Amino acid sequence: MSDARDRKARIAALRPAYRADLAAGGDRFLAPRRTTCPWCASTRLSRRLCTTDLLQHKPGRFTLDACAGCGHIFQNPQLTPEGLEFYYRDFYDGLGEQRMSGTFGGRDAMYRGRAEAMLSHDPAPKTWLDVGTGHGHFCAAARGVLPGTAFDGLDFTDGVEVAAREGRVDHAYRGAFPDLAPELAARYDVVSMFHYLEHSTDPDRELRAAREAVRPGGHLLIEVPDPESRYARLLGRWWLPWLQPQHLHFMPAGNLRRRLTDLGFTVVAEQHAEAHDPVDLLAAVWLALDHAAPRDDAPWLPEPPGALRRALRTALLLTGVPALVTATLLDRLAVRPLSHRLRLSNAYRLIARRP
Ligand SMILES: [Zn+2]
Repeated sequence: MSDARDRKARIAALRPAYRADLAAGGDRFLAPRRTTCPWCASTRLSRRLCTTDLLQHKPGRFTLDACAGCGHIFQNPQLTPEGLEFYYRDFYDGLGEQRMSGTFGGRDAMYRGRAEAMLSHDPAPKTWLDVGTGHGHFCAAARGVLPGTAFDGLDFTDGVEVAAREGRVDHAYRGAFPDLAPELAARYDVVSMFHYLEHSTDPDRELRAAREAVRPGGHLLIEVPDPESRYARLLGRWWLPWLQPQHLHFMPAGNLRRRLTDLGFTVVAEQHAEAHDPVDLLAAVWLALDHAAPRDDAPWLPEPPGALRRALRTALLLTGVPALVTATLLDRLAVRPLSHRLRLSNAYRLIARRP
């Protein structure tokens, strides 16, 4: 009970700042709408998805456009720096930190699989930089696979400093990768970006920074959501990897391969089934249930929900339990073994070598 009371008090303390932010209006959170594709400059854009924040339920509407020229999908209009701050606040850090460390902390097998993907290309890298490392959980798990490797982490939140204090990373770099890249030039055998590029306002700048930080002969390892997954259409706005408003860019694998080649990399591996995280159906059922239920308390709501709304929410979520269980079983037992053949893999991984 004291945990619940503590959370209630933290929400109440945060409420005035959110109230002031919302009173100032949400227009400043969105940049002017683009008329050209940020990947290929084509003007043939069409609306792909309109949605809301289904994770935190902060106010606002978000649109993804698709480019008919190259297949790139991107948030348009895109969040401004102020908008990014508003929508990231209390998600990975602050109020959301405990929930997210539960989500990311318990995923050892997935993290080990990501490290093992490098083994056939470089069985013993000396130095590895994980860009967008968050709280460093990948690096901690990867040490079990590569005990002789020094793992450094880079992120622009204080999570990376926590990662260093806890010994999950050897060295923490806090800031934007393109700004830090010159001091990291040619220092790393491996640079990894796991589910990082889609959060970036300018993926091309990040790729150029990566080319700088990887030493000649070293590797760049990228994992991103796959916008060509059939789930993207089947599940529509309930497909978790759309993750609005955080995900700004979705690159089809062919686009990313070509850009890496243009930058002088040699793409040595493309993996789909290996990068698939079997949660699509479970997440879709959860997002829809959570959307239909009355809101849980949050600092961006004008006031805490009353007893009746809380009871209704609990009742509705309980009726959803059989659907959640069924979805989990389908994800893990039915879809996972066939994900690549059915083109349902929700992510892909590219490994590229700098000659
Ligand atoms: Zn394009």
